[in-house]
Amino acid sequence: MKLMYINGKFTKGTSKEAIEVQNPATEEVIDSVPRGTPEDIEAAVQAAKSQFDMWRRMGANERANHLHEVARKVHEHKEKIVHLLTLEEGKPVSENEEEVEWVINTFRYYAELGRHHRGSVLTSGEASQFNFIIKEPYGVVGCIVPWNYPLLLLAWKVAPALAAGNTIVIKPSEMTPLTALYLAEYCFDHLPAGVLNVVTGYGLETGESLVKHPDVPVIAFTGSLATGQKIASIGAPMMKKLHLELGGKDATVIAEDADPEIAAKAVAYAALINAGQVCTSTERVYIPRIGADKFIEAIVAHVKTLRLGPGLDSTTDMGPMIGEMYRAKFEKQIAEAKSSGAKILTGGGRPKNLTKGFFHEPTVLTNVNHNMVIMRDETFGPAVPIMEYTSFDEAIRLTNDCQYGLGAVLISNDTKKIKQFFDDVKAGTIWINDPLTDNYAGPFGGMKYSGGARELGEEGLDEFRETKHVHWDFNMEDKSYWYPYGRE
Ligand code: NAD
Repeated sequence: MKLMYINGKFTKGTSKEAIEVQNPATEEVIDSVPRGTPEDIEAAVQAAKSQFDMWRRMGANERANHLHEVARKVHEHKEKIVHLLTLEEGKPVSENEEEVEWVINTFRYYAELGRHHRGSVLTSGEASQFNFIIKEPYGVVGCIVPWNYPLLLLAWKVAPALAAGNTIVIKPSEMTPLTALYLAEYCFDHLPAGVLNVVTGYGLETGESLVKHPDVPVIAFTGSLATGQKIASIGAPMMKKLHLELGGKDATVIAEDADPEIAAKAVAYAALINAGQVCTSTERVYIPRIGADKFIEAIVAHVKTLRLGPGLDSTTDMGPMIGEMYRAKFEKQIAEAKSSGAKILTGGGRPKNLTKGFFHEPTVLTNVNHNMVIMRDETFGPAVPIMEYTSFDEAIRLTNDCQYGLGAVLISNDTKKIKQFFDDVKAGTIWINDPLTDNYAGPFGGMKYSGGARELGEEGLDEFRETKHVHWDFNMEDKSYWYPYGRE
């Protein structure tokens, strides 16, 4: 069993039970972690709280060095972390190598951004006055993380929150807690005890007690809309800062000028990376009616070449889904689409040659419409549902016909259409010809029901800082506008 990390020590805490962690490619139990309790959250929050003053007062250079040291250690341990990540999450090694590389660079980026920020001095109202704005940390930040990119989504919260001077309690997903504990042991161990804590456990137990805790003013959460709404219902009345990164139902629009072969490859990557279990996965594809056949032919041919298998196998293009519950939900959406008239052009079932593991074939569907669940709800699985449009205005209307607004992709070189797309599509990120690529300096986050938080960029640092305006008058004197009124 791997232990929790509270106040610089590895501990079982008060837990009486264990949570088993399964390899989704083999269904084998690979390890276990304590089923944390509200008392364990209490201990972690008190440790983080007691270190807040020390950490926030630490010089920016020293804090930056701590963050660089995290990056250095993650780099040093990269191979082991990638292996463990592949075992507990399932996606191919090459995708996990990228994830770990992003983690390293996120810590480097915020190490520098944390000491780079220059505040602002305002134009004073009177000659004797001096006005300026300072940014300060909130206190203890609760980071609640999902399983699909367990380390990246942890880094996007922890790095800026620490750089801003906050201390941390992490609650990893119960399905992928091992890599977070590995980082605690080998990459966060130089941080002063209590600055960063990891409490494992279920959402309803440890997660919710973190959200309810009065000494945790910020909850930084990535996960499903339903959990985000639950967290908001608890945190909003407590006036907490809620940083919510929720679900998505991203569209890719192929414009008439797009090369069908290139568009097919872009769509396959955007829809099927991590077996479609990405918040910004392409979950709806809109193609022009004219020339539709060529694109459909190209995508079906390309998807048929993709190799399914365990992530550790170097020839694997697509790994398993995370668990049986998620695969069953996916299969229900495919079945509902089929019974409502959708045509399955490739895939549609479990691969015959992989009897263990939560695999599902990548599935291309046509004849879909917005009445079908697969075009409305988050799918979070390897599906490519394709719908035809007759005008570009219609493609934009269909793209916006969705409760979510996380990202959207356009494949085109037509400048007029590109401008119309980024002006009129309601989504936090617009990708043109290069889906799903992040930029450390570019804020990532959603609109509408995807939640309004931003990670990465300066905006990602600001999410963890409060703004304070200082109004300073050099003259200590009786002001003419004080009581009594009517003075000459
Ligand atoms: P989830 O909402 O089930 O769980 C996320 C985390 O919240 C886990 O650690 C879980 O234990 C915890 N949790 C569950 N119930 C809780 C509660 N009542 N109180 C506090 N914590 C609770 O999501 P998941 O299945 O782990 O992840 C998949 C979801 O995450 C998808 O909807 C996906 O779109 C979303 N996601 C969003 C982004 C983004 O940046 N917007 C990125 C990745 C994933």
